[in-house]
Amino acid sequence: MIVVMRSNATEESIQTVLTRLSDHKLTGHISQGEERTIIGVVGAAIPPTLCEEMERMEGVQQALRITRPYKLAAREFHPLDTVVMVRGIPVGGKGCVVMAGPCAVESEQQIVETARSVKAAGATMLRGGAFKPRSSPYTFRGLGEIGLQLLALAREETGLPIVTEVMTPTDVELVARYADVLQIGARNMQNYQLLEEVGRSGLPVMLKRGLSATFEEWLLSAEYIIAQNNPNVILCERGIRTFETATRNTMDINAIALAKRRTHLPVISDPSHGTGKWYLVVPLALASLAAGADGVIIEVHPDPDRAQSDGGQSLTFENFDRLMPQINAVASAIGRSLITSSNLIEKPVPYNGREVI
Ligand code: PEP
Ligand code: MN
Repeated sequence: MIVVMRSNATEESIQTVLTRLSDHKLTGHISQGEERTIIGVVGAAIPPTLCEEMERMEGVQQALRITRPYKLAAREFHPLDTVVMVRGIPVGGKGCVVMAGPCAVESEQQIVETARSVKAAGATMLRGGAFKPRSSPYTFRGLGEIGLQLLALAREETGLPIVTEVMTPTDVELVARYADVLQIGARNMQNYQLLEEVGRSGLPVMLKRGLSATFEEWLLSAEYIIAQNNPNVILCERGIRTFETATRNTMDINAIALAKRRTHLPVISDPSHGTGKWYLVVPLALASLAAGADGVIIEVHPDPDRAQSDGGQSLTFENFDRLMPQINAVASAIGRSLITSSNLIEKPVPYNGREVI
């Protein structure tokens, strides 16, 4: 249920509504719009007469049931787009962002060179996994904390905020010390303890859609995070598993447009995992933006043939350079603009190419 307060409702009447909800063992989450306040009501059992009861209260304009199971993620709760701020960069709203970098952090040289190259091309943030969920236990599973330290170094060199995955609740505290955006990988979309822990961190969270998760399951996972009073959730569509085997996954562009309609959360598209083929990344990135995505996340590697993971879907620096003007063109065609980080650091310190690993 949502309770829409009158535009002139007093702070006191808002508090009285919250108290009444807690008398019913329900929780009220406040969405403060410019015009009015909306209270999202969540709890196990909402009495059938609650709408009428709320509408009798001082300052309440309307109480409406939300029939969909996700409430705080629903557009009705927060009619305007949520903008998640990442080190001063807005994700969602009018601008589009580009997160770029390797699948996994492999060495200082690799991550710093990539960060410098994608930044020069106009990327907004740096991606790179330090903790990698891999299908086989015998493949490269990331550098762990060293990988996080190398990401932090690349951020110092370039000013690009870091997006990196956290895989277990017990690692959240560690990863949160380095990351600007905590990534929940597709395989962990329904790891509810992890969702609650990243929720409690208060940091921006990018929630990837599970390999075989329905749209509704994806949004219910977002709900877990927001219910911990962390509204900084960014959805990420990364392709789903279907009968089709010609591509790694089926890029569900429907879900991008639908998420923009049904929720207020920013939506990022990951055409690298969505297609699994570097030569399909560019068309699907452009299609995603045209469909309303608030940005893309793209795997880029200095030498994809030698990448420790996901080389086949990674763009070279040259291919990423070629993608960026096309992203700009699509963004401006739909009345949006690409947010670059070029104004974040005026003069990056030259990188001396030290190899530490
Ligand atoms: C990744 O971003 O490298 C990754 C492992 O993605 P996903 O969880 O979508 O498979
Ligand atoms: Mn990857």
